[in-house]
Amino acid sequence: MTQYAFFKGQFVPIEEARISIQTHAFNYGTGCFEGIRAYWNQDHEQLYVFRLREHYERLLRSCRILHIHLPYTVNELCEITLELLRKDGYREDAYIRPLAYKADEIIGVRLHGLTDEFACFAVPFGRYIEKEEGAHVCFSSWQRVDDNAVPARAKITGAYINSAFAKTDALLGGYDEALVLTQSGHISEGSAENFFMVRNGFLITPPVTANILEGITRETVMILAREEMGLQTIEREIDRSEIYICDEAFLTGTGVQIAAITQVEHRPIGSGAIGPVVTRLRELYFDVVRGRNPKYRHWCSPVYPVA
Ligand code: PMP
Repeated sequence: MTQYAFFKGQFVPIEEARISIQTHAFNYGTGCFEGIRAYWNQDHEQLYVFRLREHYERLLRSCRILHIHLPYTVNELCEITLELLRKDGYREDAYIRPLAYKADEIIGVRLHGLTDEFACFAVPFGRYIEKEEGAHVCFSSWQRVDDNAVPARAKITGAYINSAFAKTDALLGGYDEALVLTQSGHISEGSAENFFMVRNGFLITPPVTANILEGITRETVMILAREEMGLQTIEREIDRSEIYICDEAFLTGTGVQIAAITQVEHRPIGSGAIGPVVTRLRELYFDVVRGRNPKYRHWCSPVYPVA
């Protein structure tokens, strides 16, 4: 089966979607992107894209920060993505990567007055981290990029060097993930995930001013916790040492989904095994993303014609 890309305004076989080594975004990281998941539901024989609109709304917000002007509305971007998946014909879970970037082939670092392009491709995808039921994390020695340096709320391609430093050092150090601190020493997020902990019956997560990406899974978890479990989320600064003593901790993200953290730098979190809150949230989440919960079906865009 041919794999397609949307590139320079049309669908082409992925091999034909090529950029020059002179491309501005390749040289300077001047682009932004999204990561979206599509889940296959065997009973419905349907592929559901999770919170497609919200991802493109965020992409367009990233574009505003980067002076990128795309000739597409959110609706059009959603339609392009659904058409791409139909052309790919996937009947399995997939990961979708839209990119908006500075496409000029010139030397000179800036954002304005350049040519913007949009591209999108999708690949079959399973787990992003193996140990979703019990990850061992460290505190990265790399700090999170600051809003006044590289704003983390925009999903900027060049900013992912910060994530790459944190992730590689964590993996080479024998951990599964890294928690990254802000310049004031509070928890920001994981290398490509948002962070939550459970303390005394509350969910607690860093605020949007802690140099985080404003995660769509983060928002989903806050809604599911409130609506389905009666659990409120408090958004506040989190000290590093709170992680050592909290009841449960977990990471959220399109890639990681919801992953329990059961150890931090060789200290067990809570009992040292996956806890009840994250276990319940994972059950809820996987039902919702696969289109098995009618209450949240509006978050799932069907790719194929509905019978
Ligand atoms: N933070 C960072 C740095 C990320 O790259 C991601 C993944 N997109 C997230 C958080 C989680 O965001 P979302 O739930 O929207 O995928």
